[in-house]
Amino acid sequence: MKEKILIIGGGAAGMEAASQLYKMGLHPVIIEKSEALGGHIAQWDRLFPAFHPAKDVVEKMLDDVKGVDVRLETEVVDIQRDNNGFHAVLSNNEKLDVQAVVLATGFDVFKAERKQEYGYGIYNNVITNAELEQFFRTGKDERINHPKRIGFVHCVGARDVKVCNTYCSKVCCATALKQACEVKEVFPDAEVYTFYMDLRMFGPGYEDLYLKTQKDFDVKCVRGRVCEVSENMDGKLVIKAEDTLFGKPLKMTLDLLVLMCSMEKNKSINAIQQKLGVADNSDGFMQSKDTYLGMNETAQEGVFVAGACTAPKSLPDTIAEARAVAVEVFNYINR
Ligand SMILES: Cc1cc2nc3c(=O)[nH]c(=O)nc-3n(C[C@H](O)[C@H](O)[C@H](O)COP(=O)(O)OP(=O)(O)OC[C@H]3O[C@@H](n4cnc5c(N)ncnc54)[C@H](O)[C@@H]3O)c2cc1C
Ligand code: SF4
Repeated sequence: MKEKILIIGGGAAGMEAASQLYKMGLHPVIIEKSEALGGHIAQWDRLFPAFHPAKDVVEKMLDDVKGVDVRLETEVVDIQRDNNGFHAVLSNNEKLDVQAVVLATGFDVFKAERKQEYGYGIYNNVITNAELEQFFRTGKDERINHPKRIGFVHCVGARDVKVCNTYCSKVCCATALKQACEVKEVFPDAEVYTFYMDLRMFGPGYEDLYLKTQKDFDVKCVRGRVCEVSENMDGKLVIKAEDTLFGKPLKMTLDLLVLMCSMEKNKSINAIQQKLGVADNSDGFMQSKDTYLGMNETAQEGVFVAGACTAPKSLPDTIAEARAVAVEVFNYINR
């Protein structure tokens, strides 16, 4: 009998880990709580840095997991360690005996309402990065009505002690610049501004994206944090910020404001995580065993982690981790 590996979460991390384990001759079982595999990337339109259609990546990954055991709209409701590994009970009452567990439950997008000063949920034309992706995918959002002036606010729910998220969410600078180019493609006459604290463009091709944003799309990057958003009598947004390069306060009217919301750990797994004895780190994500040599392991033998459940990360980093976790699990099973 092939060894069974329980993979909780069927996003990029879970799918890639499953596909690799399957190729290694093991028996991965993906438990996905939503009605489809793909996770967040299935909700994005084009990916930074190269504007690659997310749909193509998802389709390739779906192809790679053909043959893998998948349970959709299912969650793990109980899990106990036993002599041979773990005994899991699923929400469909199925019982599974597995030799190892991979937690790949990813992230949630920060709830923009928590930063009240940006007016999300109060003013109609304040939207989030995730909602703008949805607009690019479907062309539909009644709040986006031929805007003439558009602003992007970086670091919403990140690098912010007030919401207890002091970490950098890593992908939102690149997402903001990619989306700034994309809104210019849809609304070429619009003026587009991004308000940033620092631009963290850390990966291959990212600096080119930064230059392209300014040279080809004339996006204006303003170093300064937006501190207040209100609405005037004409229904336009009025933002107050400080331009920290020129040392001047700044006031501007906008037709659309996009909040670059951070990534937070998906908390729907907390109860199972607790049963498995896997702790969170100081950023509220799952704690790896070691920062350098044990990134995909946890302090609990036989329990592994991959993808955005341990920290905000890009898709290439997620996939690299998922491949690494497959090797760790393979070595663990054959120890
Ligand atoms: C707005 C935005 C845009 C982005 N754009 C890009 C980009 O252009 N390029 C790029 O490289 N990266 C981008 N990223 C990052 C990218 O989305 C992540 O790297 C990737 O989604 C991480 O995959 P994951 O599988 O770890 O997590 P997720 O995508 O969150 O997948 C987790 C899966 O687990 C499932 N799950 C959760 N809890 C449970 C549970 N209890 N039981 C069962 N299943 C569960 C979820 O339903 C989901 O299917 C972006 C991120 C954001 C926020
Ligand atoms: S990646 Fe950029 S926008 Fe996101 S938290 Fe870090 S500095 Fe802020």
